Amino acid sequence: MRRFVFTLALAGSFIATATPAPRPQTPTAVIPENSQPSTVVVIDAGHGGFDRGGIPRQLVQEKTMNLDVAQRLKAVLTAYGYRVVMTRDSDVFVPLGTRVAIANSYRDAIFVCIHFNAAPRRSANGIETYFYSSQSLPLASAIHYYVAGGAPTPNRGVRRRGFYVLRKTTIPAVLVECGFLTNATEANYAQSSAYQQKLAEEIGRGIRERSLVASTSTANRLAANNTTVPLQPFIDQTHYRDPDLVRSKHRKRSSKSSSKSTSATRKHSSDSDSEKRSSTRKKKSAPAQTEN
Ligand code: ZN
Repeated sequence: MRRFVFTLALAGSFIATATPAPRPQTPTAVIPENSQPSTVVVIDAGHGGFDRGGIPRQLVQEKTMNLDVAQRLKAVLTAYGYRVVMTRDSDVFVPLGTRVAIANSYRDAIFVCIHFNAAPRRSANGIETYFYSSQSLPLASAIHYYVAGGAPTPNRGVRRRGFYVLRKTTIPAVLVECGFLTNATEANYAQSSAYQQKLAEEIGRGIRERSLVASTSTANRLAANNTTVPLQPFIDQTHYRDPDLVRSKHRKRSSKSSSKSTSATRKHSSDSDSEKRSSTRKKKSAPAQTEN
């Protein structure tokens, strides 16, 4: 039903978008026998409190959109039977180090950070999903496969980058950039509850089906399931930067300083975006790969 509502709401662009092969309707209560989730999912809504996210003069607040999607994702995952932990469940500031500590305090957990993107170039648009450790790639692949496949916006790919929250977590960790709030079309989508719900459901599906991600080491799993999710190729941004994501100067500065830098003690950052800002502020930059 939700999907139906969504389709109506966004009929024009959604239908016009090349969609992947049909997938089953969103299951809200039916959990396949062998996938009773024992995993804890730590959901991290980016930014919060004084940290609004995004770039200066951005009209739609990123922190608010992040929390909306995160709370919907919590509901989706809870319906699947997952235990969900939120790093924040209201408009409060939570330091990056705290977010990571929460994630790392659970064994057999996964960590999913929800963000929206921003760029000075207004036409920049699309969905991208970040990971850092190789153990996180299947999760990134699955989430990206569903979110990018289900969204009426371009697929900007899976990207590897050393955001603090991805680098410092010891469990599989992924950061989803759910579209550009600096793009008029995507900002409109982001403010619709149908679209927020759609994003949450696609992220949830990716989490649930991450074990179906194809890889060379899962040949027998492939034999056992008709469904597979392709392992996504990724853009390695640990050394390369997308010009769209190189924002205003004060935010993009980074350096080759050691990865110890200031991360754990940052007071002003709640995610990758603000990590960059705060590192600049302190004149003590994070590693080259922490921007955005
Ligand atoms: Zn952000």
